[in-house]
Amino acid sequence: MTFETIETFLRASFDPLQYAAFFGMFALFAVLERLAPRDPSPQLRLGRWPANVVLTVLTIVMMSALPVGIVAAADWSKAEGVGLLHAVDVSPVAAFAVGFLGRAFLSWGTHYLNHKVPVLWAIHRVHHVDTRLDVSTTVRFHPLEFVVTTPLTLAGVVALGAPPVAILIYELLDASVTVFSHANVRLPWWIDRPLSLFIVTPDVHRVHHSSHQPETDSNFGAVLTIWDRVLGTYRRKSADALATQENGLCEVQDGRSRNILWLLILPFIALKARAVSFARGKE
Ligand SMILES: [Zn+2]
Repeated sequence: MTFETIETFLRASFDPLQYAAFFGMFALFAVLERLAPRDPSPQLRLGRWPANVVLTVLTIVMMSALPVGIVAAADWSKAEGVGLLHAVDVSPVAAFAVGFLGRAFLSWGTHYLNHKVPVLWAIHRVHHVDTRLDVSTTVRFHPLEFVVTTPLTLAGVVALGAPPVAILIYELLDASVTVFSHANVRLPWWIDRPLSLFIVTPDVHRVHHSSHQPETDSNFGAVLTIWDRVLGTYRRKSADALATQENGLCEVQDGRSRNILWLLILPFIALKARAVSFARGKE
């Protein structure tokens, strides 16, 4: 099977495939996390899920309203011959590998910036104030998050000249692996350990949702663990420590994390507080 055949197949039904990957994994792991939870404490689904579902819907609407998608950016780059991989003579296999790993790096990089740049953290914080972690946390983002970070990803995809087939496969994996990695599920070590050599597993990503800040600032990968391993941000915890860790952010462990109106204005509250303290510092 050639890359052209795979690309033709994926393009023919990319949106349905993406939705099937996301909702299929969501349904499967929503059941599995009831049967074998990593964190056995009450998950407060009735309290948490309404806000998480509203934020998911708002994010999907916002994403579909963006004028340019990531696949379209890769198509444009290919059509115009713009970008590194279109400027050098490499085999299709090498271009695919570099494009795929490059796309994973862009995901790692934008997530890293979300944690390190105060304005971006004010927005990304909404994802992290969930006091539990399960499949409903997957797309629990402030609707502004992708509006802000997608242009960075688009610029990176174009600069790299990532082949469209690499992007199509990455985005499909992203739709399924991110649901899997947020699931509150207890995988046997003999599945988790070999899988996490390559893929972000629930035990890897759970560390990222710890309220202990050095752990929050680790495991930034969404699909692959390679960039965290290479760049020194990979962190593991024992099964017992994961089962009992406090999730979310230590400063918000109450009902505000489940209040949709508070979540929507949270970035602006944080930015206003930052502006006030900055102004005070100048007095
Ligand atoms: Zn994060």
